[in-house]
Amino acid sequence: MGTLLIRAGHVYDGVADRATEKGFVALDGDTIAAVGRQADLGSDTAARYEQVIDLGDGATVLPGLINMHTHMSFTGGDNVFHDAVNDTDTVRMIRIVENLRASLLSGVTTVRDCGTLPHLALPVRDSVERGLLPGPRIVASGAITSTGGHCFYCATEVDDEASMRKAVRAHAKRGVDFIKLFSTGGNLTPGTNSLEAQFTEREMCAATEEARRLGRRTSSHAHGTPGVRNSIKARVTTIEHCSFQTAKGIGWEEDLAAEVADSGIFVCHTIFRGVGKHANDPGFDFTANHERYLAVLKERQGLTRRLADKGVRLVAGNDAGVSYCGFADFPGDLVLTAEGCGFSAAEVLRSATSVAADALGRPELGVLAPGKVADLLAVEGNPLADIHDIERTRMVVARGKVVRAAA
Ligand SMILES: [Zn+2]
Repeated sequence: MGTLLIRAGHVYDGVADRATEKGFVALDGDTIAAVGRQADLGSDTAARYEQVIDLGDGATVLPGLINMHTHMSFTGGDNVFHDAVNDTDTVRMIRIVENLRASLLSGVTTVRDCGTLPHLALPVRDSVERGLLPGPRIVASGAITSTGGHCFYCATEVDDEASMRKAVRAHAKRGVDFIKLFSTGGNLTPGTNSLEAQFTEREMCAATEEARRLGRRTSSHAHGTPGVRNSIKARVTTIEHCSFQTAKGIGWEEDLAAEVADSGIFVCHTIFRGVGKHANDPGFDFTANHERYLAVLKERQGLTRRLADKGVRLVAGNDAGVSYCGFADFPGDLVLTAEGCGFSAAEVLRSATSVAADALGRPELGVLAPGKVADLLAVEGNPLADIHDIERTRMVVARGKVVRAAA
């Protein structure tokens, strides 16, 4: 791998409000050695590096993106439930490899997977770590639901406190990175109720207590307000969706939102375009279900804005793998998050880099600074000035290796 010097018109560290002009990033193997201004490089600099890539004044280098919510084995088809239940492990594995490839080429260098069976997710994670398989780093979950509950096809089913503790322990024994709790039902799984809790508060607390004891963070899928409430009580690390869903639609819960902010729980909003990508496609047949998704998406954008205003730390994840959400879609979904929720480009980029790394408890990720991992994305233009530029991928570097060559 050796040493590599990358020069670009703008370098964004994943933390600041704007990029450094005429910057550079120097890599030593799989680690960032230096970040700074080209003006501070000596005249003999180029000769000291084994490789020099000059992306020109129009390009921006930033940390590789972190997609905080994915399902690697899902199809992204119209009926994900049908696919998930009927696919064999072999087909799932082929899909995982393809999804990881698409993800990496779009500039995502880390995915947090929120529901792929550990016997599939862990060998893939380890193969990426060993360099056997090109892909983003995988932060893999061990998922837990109630019997027949949301995502039962990719989770351990438990129904009481004792079996909850056992499931957390068994997942930790297998080597998962974090515990994913399905604290309410979900739209993907027929027969579940999105509005109601799937676990009691005591069961949720048992899960987080065990996870904490075993050094694992926790993530809780929560649409209905009772699930959000239990997730706060149990002090999970992240709440996924956090939709405050009620029978009358999305409700706003001022006190609960304040509690989420005060307790330092991160919210992964899972804003994604989904069928919205086909809005200008005359051949696409919008069903009532699709229209409903788009209406709820609008409401959830407003809710996400209010959570941010309340001081909740947001992380970006697009639920890649669910219906109409592909693994190359993440940059485009960041654009929607900025425009739909009214966030600045820097806010959105931080939620997919440095803040995401914080939520993962992985300080070596998500920031361009000496000593951090050499995971980078280069795009044409400057996404801090125009967030659309985040989709103009020019180069991707993962662990110091150029995996998508400069174009
Ligand atoms: Zn999900």
